[in-house]
Amino acid sequence: MNTLHVDVVVIGGGPGGSTAGTLLAKEGLKVIVLEREQFPRFKIGESMLPMVRELYERLGVSGTIESTFIQKHGAHFVTADGKREYMYEFKNAMDCPYGYAYHVKRDEHDQILLNNTRKAGADVRERWQVDDVLFEGERAVGVVAHALDGDPTPITIKAKLVVDASGRASLLSKKLNLRKADKILNKAAAFTHFKNVKRFDGKHEGSITIGCFPGGWIWVIPFKGDVTSVGAVMHHSYWRDKKEKPEEMFKAAMADCAPVKARLEGAEQLMPVMTEGTFSYKSDRFSGPGWVLCGDAACFLDPVFSSGVLLSMRCAEEIVKLAVPALKKDKPELLTDQKAFRPYEQRMRRGMGTFWTFIYGFYDEAFIDIFFRPTNRFRMMNAISGVLAGNIFPSLKFKARIWAMQFVVYMNRRIAKSRGIAMIDRASA
Ligand SMILES: Cc1cc2nc3c(=O)[nH]c(=O)nc-3n(C[C@H](O)[C@H](O)[C@H](O)COP(=O)(O)OP(=O)(O)OC[C@H]3O[C@@H](n4cnc5c(N)ncnc54)[C@H](O)[C@@H]3O)c2cc1C
Repeated sequence: MNTLHVDVVVIGGGPGGSTAGTLLAKEGLKVIVLEREQFPRFKIGESMLPMVRELYERLGVSGTIESTFIQKHGAHFVTADGKREYMYEFKNAMDCPYGYAYHVKRDEHDQILLNNTRKAGADVRERWQVDDVLFEGERAVGVVAHALDGDPTPITIKAKLVVDASGRASLLSKKLNLRKADKILNKAAAFTHFKNVKRFDGKHEGSITIGCFPGGWIWVIPFKGDVTSVGAVMHHSYWRDKKEKPEEMFKAAMADCAPVKARLEGAEQLMPVMTEGTFSYKSDRFSGPGWVLCGDAACFLDPVFSSGVLLSMRCAEEIVKLAVPALKKDKPELLTDQKAFRPYEQRMRRGMGTFWTFIYGFYDEAFIDIFFRPTNRFRMMNAISGVLAGNIFPSLKFKARIWAMQFVVYMNRRIAKSRGIAMIDRASA
């Protein structure tokens, strides 16, 4: 079997893998990125958060992203009957220097990032599948991969570090039996693209709408031009009963949310409804000797706050911060330590934790009650906007506002309980 030797092998060329590949290659390291698809490829996950712009700047793709995609200035939340709604505007976000984000078609977006990785000097191979990660004892030492076109003979790629950015395929997490389903959330989704969905006027043309319905929630994501992505995220019980008929399931969800239904009147569906099955999971560990999990390969909970791409790219950035000094000093033993990437894992779990609190909260009426009518006492609205903008490493001042919000939610729940009002948990609706 042929053998290649590199500093780092990255599995997957999505936003996590391409960010890791670019930043490592820019440091002069020998990196190979293996991606089993041919880009551009369709991918769901089209709404970005303002803080991702910091990463675009670091990667050197800000100008291309700005000229290719529509600006997203806010996140509009509305109830199924349309009686309660709120537009969070990113210009109000605490500790966030970016007033807007983007809505992107992922085929174009991910291709921009992966081309940039190639430009930075990484060896990027599309239509190459990683079949296995190689271990010597507990230490990962490389991968076995093969080309999906041409000669299919597998090759061995020896590396000082294996970055698993394989997304929901979670190659390594599954191999090591680390991936655990999140039974509380337990979500699935059905989605498609439309032409001529009604939009907001002016600067909010590109803002996202999140509409609630009894089985879950719906996204409306306008792209540049006249195409809009619409999808429903639903609890598994709702999904289970209807999954054999995605078109019907999708239509039923739309019919259950009056404001979204109104926006879809007269719109033309451009492709069949697609589905993503149960997708809420976390890995017990994010790293070990010679290996580290990046982005969705480590965990994914729920897309309600559009955090997936930002978190994957942040994971990559944090991995690179630790990996570069170790690799550059050519002290691979630093990377063979069980605890070498523990600081990465701790920091990312803290960062993701902010979103996790909000995600679980979104399925709790006590939280929703505050979320739909935030006061700006204690600058709570600014802090919520800050979380929605993707500020995952907030200052203490910022965190204090979020704690204040959590306290108000807690009190809300207690008051409701004392009055005998049920706080419906839509997670299991
Ligand atoms: C229904 C739904 C809606 C979402 N909406 C949003 C949203 O609005 N905003 C947002 O930010 N996020 C959203 N997400 C999440 C977002 O799509 C992901 O978090 C993001 O794509 C993760 O990036 P990644 O690089 O970790 O993984 P991916 O983007 O999944 O990339 C992984 C890559 O690895 C490749 N790969 C897998 N296995 C192998 C292998 N064995 N060998 C070689 N290559 C391999 C795959 O082909 C893929 O290209 C959504 C997710 C879902 C399910």
